[in-house]
Formats: sequence, C-alpha cells, structure tokens
Amino acid sequence: MTLCLIDSHCHLDLEPLKSEFSEVLLEATSAGISGFIVPGVHPEGWRGIYELAVENPVIMPAYGIHPMHSECLNDQIIQVLLKFAVSGVAIGEIGLDPYYKAPMELQEKVFRKQLRIAVALGLPVLIHCRRAFQKVLRIMKEERISQVGGIMHAFSGSVEMAYEFVRLGFAISISGTVTWDNAVKPITIARKLPLEQLVMETDSPDMAPQRYRGSINRPAWIMETVRTLAAVRKISVEEVAEATSVNVSRILRLERSSA
Ligand SMILES: [Zn+2]
Repeated sequence: MTLCLIDSHCHLDLEPLKSEFSEVLLEATSAGISGFIVPGVHPEGWRGIYELAVENPVIMPAYGIHPMHSECLNDQIIQVLLKFAVSGVAIGEIGLDPYYKAPMELQEKVFRKQLRIAVALGLPVLIHCRRAFQKVLRIMKEERISQVGGIMHAFSGSVEMAYEFVRLGFAISISGTVTWDNAVKPITIARKLPLEQLVMETDSPDMAPQRYRGSINRPAWIMETVRTLAAVRKISVEEVAEATSVNVSRILRLERSSA
C-alpha cells in the first residue's frame, strides 16, 4: 500500500541535507512521503527555500525568522519577508525560546511582528516554543492568532497546554522525540490528544528518532515516529499517515495554496 504522508517540518534547505537534496528527497518519496513543509529560520535562507519549492512541487515553503535569529529583523527585512510570504503556505518558524542568547524582549518583539504579518496576510503560523508556553499562549491570544491557526512544531509541553493551543485552532506536531527511550510528555500527547489534532514531523536534520539518535535526521525516518504513534494508539501505520496528512492540509489550508 502506498502511503500518503506529509513531513510538516523539515529543513531540507540546510546543510548537510542541502548537498544531498536529490538523494534525501528520493529516499523520502520512496518511503511514502508526498509532501514536505520547509520552514525558514533566517532571511538568508528564504531565497533558497523559494527556489527548492519552485523546482519541486512536493516542497511547501514557509518563511519566517526563528527566535534564535531575532536580531536580524529590521524594516527592510520585513519588506523582504512580505514579498516571500505571499508564496508560502505559512509564516514560520517563529516563537520564543529562552535557551537561545537573543534577549527575550527582542524575541517577543520579533515574534509579535511576525504574528501580525500572518494575521494581516491570512496565513497560518509554525510555532517554535520551548519552556515558554504560558508566554507564547498569552502573546498568541493578544495577537488574535486564532484567526489563522497553525502548527505547534515539535511540541514539548503538557497535555493541558496542548489543549490550550488546540482551542486557538492549532495542530500539535509529534516529532522523533516520541520514539526516544526517555520520552514521557510526547507519549502522553500522542496517546491522549484526538487524532484530528495531531500532525507529524522530523525537524530534520535535528531530532533523529531513537534508532538513529545522534545521526543527521532525514525525512524518511519519519516512519519511526509514524510506527510509534500507530503503536501507542493501536491503529495502523496507514491510518496515522492518512489522518495526520489530512490534518496538515486542513490546518494549513493547502487546497488554497495549490489553487
Ligand atoms: Zn525547525
């Protein structure tokens, strides 16, 4: 049976995946992955993502500034972002992460600015958040982000927190961390949330699943995560693939982008 599966977050434009792009893509499509959301992290990468998407219809681009690169936002970059954004499926990845050295006040300013662009353009958002869920939730509510919704990428919060984001129109993304031997929260999320609210991702080249932990992650390895989710929920791999891909299409309104 051929799978229909979307990797909702993979950095195919970044090294070392970029140099092996053709092999990585072929391996992934052979494994049954039919769509790849490639989010931007830095303005210098946006052109490359745009070109990948133009050359490969299976690549769906998103444009944004990752919280770790918050210092690069200025008025001119906003104009560039606006130009790229209209050809993307989402604004992202954006958010807050106190682990990075960019000051939190600056991260918040850059996050809010990009949320406002998303709302103004009617585009969903891809959210990166670690250890700042209450703050991110408050900011997203203040910026009325439920108008556009989006995906909580590689979600590492609690079930209660996941529901807060679901209420704002967000899907919760399950990454390779669910396969890790020490996984607790991701397993609970995978088990308890309605399947309609879950999507899958690799975040490659980061966050390799347990079997390949420490290696450069690649989209084909999303199957490890799919198998874990199927086992936890006692459903088939095909059901997981189908349902989570339908969820990505719904949340990101992909029919709109291909129209
Ligand atoms: Zn990422």
